[in-house]
Amino acid sequence: MKIVRLPKELQKLALQVRQSGRTIGLVPTMGFLHAGHLSLIDEAKKRADFVIVSVFVNPVQFGPNEDLDKYPRDFEHDRALCEEHGADVIFAPAPGDMYAADRSVWVEETQLSRGMCGALRPGHFRGVCTVVAKLFNLAQPNVAVFGQKDAQQAQVIRRMVRDLDFPVEIVTAPLVRDADGVALSSRNKYLTPAERERARVLSRSLMAAARGELDCDGLRKAIEAESDKVDYVVWFDADTLEAPGPDTKCILAAAAAYFGRTRLIDNILIQVKK
Ligand code: AMP
Repeated sequence: MKIVRLPKELQKLALQVRQSGRTIGLVPTMGFLHAGHLSLIDEAKKRADFVIVSVFVNPVQFGPNEDLDKYPRDFEHDRALCEEHGADVIFAPAPGDMYAADRSVWVEETQLSRGMCGALRPGHFRGVCTVVAKLFNLAQPNVAVFGQKDAQQAQVIRRMVRDLDFPVEIVTAPLVRDADGVALSSRNKYLTPAERERARVLSRSLMAAARGELDCDGLRKAIEAESDKVDYVVWFDADTLEAPGPDTKCILAAAAAYFGRTRLIDNILIQVKK
């Protein structure tokens, strides 16, 4: 497995791989890899001949009061896991090599990114779309794999690809949970044991909602009772990220809440019975 640091070097390598007739799968991550990320790498391996995993804590998707500086990092651990899972390249650029000091072009999605995390983290999805567009240009993927854990992100990226005609197939892989139901996340590392215990309310109540035992109001009350602050609880059409209508096929029930100082997100898809 090769470690590539320079954007132009990755692009050169990717163009050579494509010219040799092989397909490329890309898995964008911010590192501190866990089984959720690894499931995306496994999915990419099934769908492409050559797999590139990017490990980049993207500064432009963090707000001024967010956890950019203390976001967990462990490159050696990430390198070992990528190698074990058969990745061909880890792309781990320095922020200064990804962004010119006088950069002035952004990619912005203006519909699906307005609510949920977009409403509470201004500029977040602009930062995500911009870095993913850059990664697509650098890694030249035929297929890119994203996690359902970040349901809104996956929808925003699909829309970016559709509206800007990127020649890449977007695959959304299922959300991976720990044995106690908590959605795997690099940020779980911040939780104290007591906060972790309370954080189980997210998966527990979302699963109750999927069984029809809680409506959106009940979901919000259950999460409010165990968390320190609720950012949002939504019950949306999974495709439009708006209130469900007569054509809705699938509901996205999603929540973001704080446990101590740690903000966690979780969601579940609920098929509409017709
Ligand atoms: P991150 O490193 O948090 O930016 O995540 C990188 C990719 O991994 C994104 O596409 C996430 O949706 C995905 N991911 C993160 N956690 C999980 C999980 N628990 N299950 C599935 N995919 C995940």
